[in-house]
Amino acid sequence: MEFQSLPINTNAQYLLNDSRQLSSPQRSIFFAIKGLHHDGHLFLDDLYRKGVREFVVESNALSPTILRDLKRFQEAKIWKVENSISAMQEVAQKHREHFNLPIISITGSNGKTIVKEWLSQLLSNRFKIVKSPKSYNSQIGVPLSIWQINESHNLGIFEVGVSKPNEMENLEKVVQPSIGIFTNIGTAHSEFFSSNSQKIKEKIKLFKHVKTLIYCADYVEIDEIIKSDFIIDNPNCTIINWSRMANTGIRADWEVDVENTKVFLDLTAVTSNAEKFTTSFDIPFTDEASIENAIHCMLTLWHLGYSTSEIQARLQILRPVSMRLEMKQGINSNYLIDDTYNNDLAGLTIALNFLSQQKQRQRKVLILSDLLETGIPEKELYKQIAHLVKERHLEYFIGIGDVISRNKNHFITSSAKTTTNIQFFKTTDEFLDSQTIKSLHNCTMLIKGARKYGFEQIVNRLVQKTHGTILEINLDAITNNLNYYRDKIGQQIKMMVMVKAFAYGSGSTEVANLLQFHGVDYLAVAYTDEGVALRQNGVYLPIMVMNPSPNDFEQLVAYSLEPEIYSLRILQEFSDYIDSRNLSSKIHLKIDTGMHRLGFEKEALPALLLCLKSNPNLWVSTIFSHLAAADEEAYDDFTQKQVCTFTEMVGEISEALGYIPSRHLANSAGIARFPEARLDMVRLGIGLYGVAAKAEDQVNLQTVGTLKTVISQIKHIKADETVGYGRKGELKRDTKIATIAIGYADGFNRRYGRGVGEVLINGHKCKVVGNVCMDMTMIDITDVPYVQEGDEVVIFNKELTISELAHKIGTIPYEVLTSVSERVKRVFYQL
Ligand SMILES: *Cc1c(COP(=O)(O)O)cnc(C)c1O
Repeated sequence: MEFQSLPINTNAQYLLNDSRQLSSPQRSIFFAIKGLHHDGHLFLDDLYRKGVREFVVESNALSPTILRDLKRFQEAKIWKVENSISAMQEVAQKHREHFNLPIISITGSNGKTIVKEWLSQLLSNRFKIVKSPKSYNSQIGVPLSIWQINESHNLGIFEVGVSKPNEMENLEKVVQPSIGIFTNIGTAHSEFFSSNSQKIKEKIKLFKHVKTLIYCADYVEIDEIIKSDFIIDNPNCTIINWSRMANTGIRADWEVDVENTKVFLDLTAVTSNAEKFTTSFDIPFTDEASIENAIHCMLTLWHLGYSTSEIQARLQILRPVSMRLEMKQGINSNYLIDDTYNNDLAGLTIALNFLSQQKQRQRKVLILSDLLETGIPEKELYKQIAHLVKERHLEYFIGIGDVISRNKNHFITSSAKTTTNIQFFKTTDEFLDSQTIKSLHNCTMLIKGARKYGFEQIVNRLVQKTHGTILEINLDAITNNLNYYRDKIGQQIKMMVMVKAFAYGSGSTEVANLLQFHGVDYLAVAYTDEGVALRQNGVYLPIMVMNPSPNDFEQLVAYSLEPEIYSLRILQEFSDYIDSRNLSSKIHLKIDTGMHRLGFEKEALPALLLCLKSNPNLWVSTIFSHLAAADEEAYDDFTQKQVCTFTEMVGEISEALGYIPSRHLANSAGIARFPEARLDMVRLGIGLYGVAAKAEDQVNLQTVGTLKTVISQIKHIKADETVGYGRKGELKRDTKIATIAIGYADGFNRRYGRGVGEVLINGHKCKVVGNVCMDMTMIDITDVPYVQEGDEVVIFNKELTISELAHKIGTIPYEVLTSVSERVKRVFYQL
């Protein structure tokens, strides 16, 4: 077999790095990447059979099996490279060099995506813009973004992020920006950088060749590095910096009102004409992050020659950017994926991928409005959309709007062979009045429309109503945490994830679906019915049930669930059941090494082995035990002893069985603190949900859940009055009291009452006043400025952590997480 000669020369329309996102085989080039837990080369054969004909493979991943596969790819072009990610970047770089459009590029710790999205809203009246989809700013995201540039564009806006040293240099070559924006720098230390200044120096490499650099000089470290190192390397760069504190660059200041902020910018400092003027701009935001992002945008527009009055007019169109793809529970057993913000082709592709990834419902539906301002000619655009739709095997496609309706022929001809139901409506109201909307049940629906179509009405109609309290689950954070532990254990060790107790309160079917997508090896639940619910919602991974009971053996077997066998009694009962029906089953043996909860003790081994030998229908798939104190240093000797006892007992059992079941012992804390306990598989629990046993792990985990509610009513109560049941809310001063829509029945523990607990409003901590009621709680908001009924109240999030809450009431994070009651609706999102 001959490999193609380098460089890679492709006409493909799609650069593909994840085989699951294949949509257009003939028009894709697949870059096989060998990662730590995932090897793209294992999917080559499958992709070839699906029609992909261009492949990039990595030389060190070409095992004899893979080479044998490749030899059979008669019609394919295959390039062999050292590193597929670099190859993808080079291909994108060549593409970039075909176009000589100006590119604005944005880096920094926060705000990259917002500034990018806002600039594209603000500049859309003068430019045909191509931009990074969502927050595609990684080593792979950047080349994928650049690949979208075509002749119709005359401005690019791309965000770039780096997570390790030495990543930026190549990305700079891919993007080749002419205007740079450095948004800010956070204080969190990342494990790969030794200091903040090393991180800034890495990021600033993006601006090596820019003609203009915009940043805020109040980030002193950024300012110093720009003034010392950067301008020496790039002396001709125009520096536009602003500051609220220092007397440097453009003076900025602002006054915050209830819903608006007046921003004052003294643009004289850098303007060539001597006339002095301070301009004020009104923006519809009040938080500091938004003000900072907006100033970066204003200065960019000003630099591009917008007049101050035009800037002011454009600023009025700014809206909060929600780049999130949200998945909510709908009525009629539907799931809704709400993506009413992003309205371009790249955003549609990403959202469709997210839709395909959800296996909870077989029936998939897309509700789509006209796509506005894509820069692609109408006919071509709808042909492409029709193509995307056809590939997804949807149950329903619903197009809403004049333009999409008059292009219906593309959808109908292209789907002649499929079973998709296709319907068009001129307006959102027409759809809301139709029979179609009533017929949607048991579906996962992607609802995606430009703002002017008001698709929030559709979401409103179809969503399951909440009483104001929701638990938001960040699916990206779960992915991050999973990968963090996978990195720790390496590729040889398998991963079982605990999704018992509603996935620690986070929503079992949705979390399990995500874990399945990421290819974990095993799931575990506490009870059979939890396993059954997973099976009924599209989960096909192996599932261990820790507490099976004879009453549900039938279900257990019917749904291919695998029982934990922890005593002679349950072993006997299960084997009787299996024998009487002439079945066979995998089982998981739990042995007791010191936890003294469930499991066989040493003394029971002879009887256990005897029973197993006389029951060849039972196959011991794994043997496991549980650590009692893996997170407590004081008991490390005890944990070591558990590890020893476990290995001994497993040895004895394996010898007697005549085969070697795999072994697992470590929970989250065990994974982190006892590498020797990782054995063949680990059982990850709380770590996945963002709580670590070790501080050094904690900084690398992301917060998964945010519990929020709203203010129902605000009152002014005199100092001599009391608040709530039992008159326990005694006041020391005249107090502004807010009643919030969460109580102990939602999982807001009653022990938070009488000043113990705190909640967050606009970042201000507010104490609980008096007793927590069943469905409501009163809090003191006297010191919070600008607060209104209906405002959001945070119970826990990244700032107010569940560990902190647990500590206040003398419990553990596990209890705080799992006690959020099921009546609190979960909203799942991904960026
Ligand atoms: C819950 C559980 C785990 C996970 O423990 P974490 O501390 O949440 O990581 C592991 N093994 C067993 C048997 C469990 O019950």
